[in-house]
Amino acid sequence: MRDPRYDILFQPMAIGPLTAKNRFYQVPHCNGGGYRDPSAAAAMRATKAEGGWGVIFTEQTEMHHSSEITPFIELRLWEDKDIPSIAKMAAAMKTHGALAGIQLAYSGINGPNMYTKEVPLAPSALPIRTFTNDPVQARAMDKTDIKNLRRWFVNAAKRSKLAGFDLICLYGAHGFGIFQHFLSRATNQRSDEYGGSLENRSRFAREVLADLRDAVGDTMALTMRVSLDETIGELGFSNDEVRDFIAMNAELPDLWDLAMGTWEDCSGPSRFKQEAAQEAWVTGIRDLSPRPVVGVGRFTSPDVMARMIRQGRLDFIGCARPSIADPFLPKKIDEGRIDDIRECIGCNICVTGDMTQGMGRCTQNPTWMEEWRRGWHPEKIAAKGESQSVLIIGSGPAGLEAARAAALRGYDVAVAEAGETYGGRVARERLLPGLSAWGRVADYRLYQLGQRPNVQMYPGSRLTAEDVLAFGFQHICVATGSTWRADGVARQHVVPMAISPQMPVFTPDDLMAGRIPAGRVVVFDDDHYYMGGVLAELCAQKGCAVTLVTPSAFVSDWTANTLEQSQIHRRLAGLGVAIRLNTGIASVQAGGVETNCTYTDTRAMMECDAVVLVTSRTSDDGVFLDLMAQQGDWADAGIRSVKVIGDAAAPAPIAWATHAGHRYARDLDAPDLGDALPFRREVTRIED
Ligand code: ADP
Ligand code: SF4
Repeated sequence: MRDPRYDILFQPMAIGPLTAKNRFYQVPHCNGGGYRDPSAAAAMRATKAEGGWGVIFTEQTEMHHSSEITPFIELRLWEDKDIPSIAKMAAAMKTHGALAGIQLAYSGINGPNMYTKEVPLAPSALPIRTFTNDPVQARAMDKTDIKNLRRWFVNAAKRSKLAGFDLICLYGAHGFGIFQHFLSRATNQRSDEYGGSLENRSRFAREVLADLRDAVGDTMALTMRVSLDETIGELGFSNDEVRDFIAMNAELPDLWDLAMGTWEDCSGPSRFKQEAAQEAWVTGIRDLSPRPVVGVGRFTSPDVMARMIRQGRLDFIGCARPSIADPFLPKKIDEGRIDDIRECIGCNICVTGDMTQGMGRCTQNPTWMEEWRRGWHPEKIAAKGESQSVLIIGSGPAGLEAARAAALRGYDVAVAEAGETYGGRVARERLLPGLSAWGRVADYRLYQLGQRPNVQMYPGSRLTAEDVLAFGFQHICVATGSTWRADGVARQHVVPMAISPQMPVFTPDDLMAGRIPAGRVVVFDDDHYYMGGVLAELCAQKGCAVTLVTPSAFVSDWTANTLEQSQIHRRLAGLGVAIRLNTGIASVQAGGVETNCTYTDTRAMMECDAVVLVTSRTSDDGVFLDLMAQQGDWADAGIRSVKVIGDAAAPAPIAWATHAGHRYARDLDAPDLGDALPFRREVTRIED
């Protein structure tokens, strides 16, 4: 069963008046659902409880209406009316003996109040600091405001207790919480007893913690979340000051929860940050205070986790993304099932739920945020229905996930792959700069498929419709992926652009197949996710003189939603890549490209030796279309259904493909829902 090396992870540990059953601590994380989808969010936390986490937190909970971060959807605790929905989450967290935590956030200089229309309050009068650069400023709090805010924290703490929570986390990290705004000289420029010296800047935290201890501290544990370094230079709340603050207030909270910098710094994607990236920042802090310490670092390896505790870096292993990718991570370690861990790949697609106000998605765990909506469980799936056999064509993320889930249900599954390597796009993209961890999408699924006797894998098998009709499988899943276009069609050009045959033009597929351009290379990014930036990086690494041209105002525009946009720009600039924003390519000519300004259409020639077009993809759905054209032959061939999924249906990020694969397997032999909505949702109750 459990490897004794990991016993240390399962030792109970006190937090104030309470005891956590083990060291697995799900730190607060958003999910896109929040107050809009309380049952979906609660069921997601319940799954973590079942998966063995010792401590489980909510996302950030806006604790007073005078500070909120619309358009982002978190939780709200503004009045008693909010209690039932968050009580549902607390109850869900506690179902298997976990401690239930709520993170109370007063957003201060981070809260534009676009919904409540209240004047934002902050330690000092400055513009609101948000992703969206809202044209709003905060008013500096006077003494009455500070007194009020202390009372509001007490009110929120009492409501948290009524809702059934065990722990309260006071948010002062990532630039998002008022505690940091008081602690940092950048956002606290006060000259009264709340500003100036570190002791003065700590005053607000000390007062609120004392208030809460009086109000709820007999039964609840109080934690404080701060960033290990504000990462904004001298003026910021630096790692040295954090250490001074903790030493000076060693017994202030019942636990120190140590995050990092901004959210971008803390939830760094694997392209830029390795596992345990914060180790140097956290080392030694545990010696400054008798209170336990939790820290994060996209921990997926139990060896690294055990080492962090054994070496005295941390007392609790904090996880957000690893707990999303595998809610059963603690249980799998406990049961000695290390190979079954579905490791987070660090792609940050989970963050996009929050950033787009959509619904959280996870590339590795397609059941995330679908636990209540669709009744999907990450580890359990209904036994197969009346039919028996499934042929899956294509072994990309969609095909592999369809195969994994269908095999788990008990179907006889065959996977035919045209190439000699399994994994589809992931097998190629994992070789690109910074994307090696993405290979886990294929590795996890291939290992699982390898464990099952009811799965046959056929590499080197490019199937045609005729092959399929001859085989006799009952269900045919076409997951044949997509191909990058070479004609420039995407957003700027909806029909093929003018391209001179004298200019060497490459697609991402060419580069991934090892055909690398040389000399002066223009990378045209009209896709706007990661591929353009990654290929510019690759070409620069290979010695090309690279210019990245994009009609967008930002490099790799959509990666703002995965918290990597600024890091991508920084890396390309560091590699000497010339960046041309707000610029399209009107035509590709013999000696270069004709650029056009996005706003004025002003044209100019840019000389180059090769062009890489990162534009859009065409679905490789030929087998599907051929099969649909021969529907009359299905019955004789024993075929009951033919479906197209993933990129072969419509190209999208990898998470869309794993979702499609999972859904395919769940829907096998399921009753036809007709026109009904395929998932549950919550609709606002109309007030009397
Ligand atoms: P997705 O993201 O939807 O899973 P991918 O492009 O990653 O799509 O994977 C598609 C896989 O399907 C590729 O590995 C490709 O080689 C394979 N494939 C494409 N056409 C066929 C075919 N006719 N027969 C078998 N495999 C195919
Ligand atoms: Fe990890 Fe990506 Fe899943 Fe987020 S979406 S938990 S980063 S695998």
